[in-house]
Amino acid sequence: MSDNTEFLPFARPSISEEAIADVVTCLRSGWLVTGPKVQKFEEDLKNYLHCPYAHTLTSATAGLFYAVEALGIQAGDEVITTPMTFAATANSIAKQGAKPVFVDVEPGTYNMDVNRIEDVLTSKTKAIMPVHFSGLPVDLDPLYALAKKHNLRVIEDAAHAIGAEYKGKKIGSFGDIQIFSFYANKTMTTGEGGCLTCADENLAKTISLYRFHGIDRPAWNRFGKNGSHEYEIVFPGYKANMMDIQAALGIHQLKDLDSFIEKRQKLVTRYYEKLGDWSELKLPESPTYSHKHGWHLFAVQLLENKAGLNRDQFMAAMKEENIGTALHYKAVHLFPYYQNTFHYKRGDFPHAEAISDRIVSLPLFPTMTEADQDRVIKAMGRVLKRV
Ligand SMILES: *Cc1c(COP(=O)(O)O)cnc(C)c1O
Repeated sequence: MSDNTEFLPFARPSISEEAIADVVTCLRSGWLVTGPKVQKFEEDLKNYLHCPYAHTLTSATAGLFYAVEALGIQAGDEVITTPMTFAATANSIAKQGAKPVFVDVEPGTYNMDVNRIEDVLTSKTKAIMPVHFSGLPVDLDPLYALAKKHNLRVIEDAAHAIGAEYKGKKIGSFGDIQIFSFYANKTMTTGEGGCLTCADENLAKTISLYRFHGIDRPAWNRFGKNGSHEYEIVFPGYKANMMDIQAALGIHQLKDLDSFIEKRQKLVTRYYEKLGDWSELKLPESPTYSHKHGWHLFAVQLLENKAGLNRDQFMAAMKEENIGTALHYKAVHLFPYYQNTFHYKRGDFPHAEAISDRIVSLPLFPTMTEADQDRVIKAMGRVLKRV
């Protein structure tokens, strides 16, 4: 028997009326592409994240690809990363002809097991690419200590982690390179969009060339009264500059971010209270170091032997109950490209594989009410034949 109510998605963006009004103002202003809104959004990001450079982009994927390329990573090189991520992470390495060298994850947090990094270091290793899974910061102190010792760069895939903190410091406020995603289902959104932060002036310069044709100057001065029509190409660049339409939205999303995370945290606390003793589930665990979780996702594992159905059957049954769930993620080394190209196989990373087979993201978004959440839990109870 399913709830006779409308479909509850696993994620839904929260867009304020003020944000909508500003997007409309932007549309009427005559300036749609990179301009004053982008400049303000980047200033706001730098203030929020306490970082010297914040370059907005059309996606986090662009940021990951550009970071790998800008560091000169190429065929013959290796980058250590996690298989428990969205494919864009590893794709950015493979695209340059380099090898993504996976290390297994911690079974409780789903994050890269930093203790395993040293085991796979070789003379070809150029960088480490950790992913702050679901907004839970990876143990960065030992990771950066290793990077320093072996002279490696660190590209943090922080797609889930805007607003998250490691030992009292915001992700993005320290370290080497971070890439945030503002995709529609992420913790804050500009529709499509992303941002690369770093402390390295040269890298920041290169990224700003990559994102706009290799033109060595912000485009929006060009057509203004005080602008000059002159420009130089100093590098054959790409095109991934954010639009003012997106930044108008991003400015408001960033203002609301801390309250979004607070609402997510409250719902997560309730999930732990209500689901904590369900033997069919394994809930994500907390690391012992101090941190603030970004809670982009609440991803639980469904234990098939206790539940009497597998994850895919569970997701299908929840859909019948009018509840959306999502799969984050299928372990990357199980995809044909990674198996065929780098000869990874099932069995290589047992923790990631167990998680990959069992993981399911439950609905979590700031405007989700406790009544919505109770609907999710009741539906789960029926699907798991608890009632
Ligand atoms: C969403 C996501 C990306 C890609 O972000 P886009 O902005 O959609 O390009 C990269 N890595 C991870 C872990 C993600 O979840």
